[in-house]
Amino acid sequence: MPRPIQATIHTAALRHNLGLARQAAPDAQAWAVVKANAYGHGIERVFEGLRGADGFALLDLGEAERVRALGWRGPILLLEGAFEARDLELCSRLHLWHTVHCDEQIDMLALHKTHEPHRVFLKMNSGMNRLGFAPQRFRSAWTRLNALPQVDEISLMTHFSDADGDKGIAAQMARFEEATRDLPGERSLCNSAATLRHAHQAGVKADWIRPGIALYGSSPDFPAHSAAGWDLKPAMSLHANIMAVQHLQVGDSVGYGSSFVADHAMRIGVVACGYADGYPRICPTGTPVLVDGVRGRTLGRVSMDMLAVDLSAMPAAGVGSQVTLWGQAANGTVLSIDEVAQAAGTVGYELMCALAQRVPVQVAED
Ligand SMILES: *Cc1c(COP(=O)(O)O)cnc(C)c1O
Repeated sequence: MPRPIQATIHTAALRHNLGLARQAAPDAQAWAVVKANAYGHGIERVFEGLRGADGFALLDLGEAERVRALGWRGPILLLEGAFEARDLELCSRLHLWHTVHCDEQIDMLALHKTHEPHRVFLKMNSGMNRLGFAPQRFRSAWTRLNALPQVDEISLMTHFSDADGDKGIAAQMARFEEATRDLPGERSLCNSAATLRHAHQAGVKADWIRPGIALYGSSPDFPAHSAAGWDLKPAMSLHANIMAVQHLQVGDSVGYGSSFVADHAMRIGVVACGYADGYPRICPTGTPVLVDGVRGRTLGRVSMDMLAVDLSAMPAAGVGSQVTLWGQAANGTVLSIDEVAQAAGTVGYELMCALAQRVPVQVAED
């Protein structure tokens, strides 16, 4: 028997979450962001659940090839554009739309030989200070691009730094609108947080939304809103079984460093999941888990291949019981990946992206 650990990708949850993003931005087209191997879920595994999107957005050219290999003939957008001139050949061959965020990318396009002109998304740096042209340089970049025979339609995009927080999007919206007021072309502004929190405001939803994390059922602004608060459903569940049970007396400790010491007699379960599976080692005693669908907690330090859970209040649980590290238990109870991420001092994004290769993954249609 293989080690009793299993990740499950929920097709119906992906479909549901995409529907929620669409509801928040009616009439906008939706990119399903599937970068980083669909946030760790696997591009091939999420394809069925997300094929109702208007396009797929990602940044690795190999991933774009994989989406085409799945038979997708619709739009694919490279969110960071070409990294070198050769990449434009693949863009021509696979009909990839690509971001243009710097002068060097315009230089590459100007030298590119193509029969069909490319659709490009010109990116503005409206305050994130990662990629894009500064607002005062945006128009000249647009003019230069527009003069190239290699370029077809030019769309306009930017990315918000604080759509999930108190600072919000107003300052970046103002800069974007001011610098693009009389430029033609479709617009794309909103990641998940902006889609759910701000897309109801005039002009914000624009022509294309770019939800990522929300599709996978993690809240983009946890803890202000939980995933359940947004009605998002987990697209990934991570389950493992209890492999052994130990009985602790007062003063007995659990695991490396003896970081947890029992102050009363207790039963603990040893679970076949550790940091080599992608479960964060930094999660302290008390990190939530579900044991047979009932909420419980971890105990002591997470090992490479195992972690311990408290069974004191769960007399029926034992060897073979199912532990849900995140996602949905067999009885339907949900433990959001966001709660586990919070215990680890990080965000759901990082945990789902870090699911380890050695964990077997299955796709569930329901
Ligand atoms: C990753 C990414 C997104 C999606 O962001 P989420 O927070 O996951 O919704 C949208 N736009 C760009 C440019 C991105 O890089």
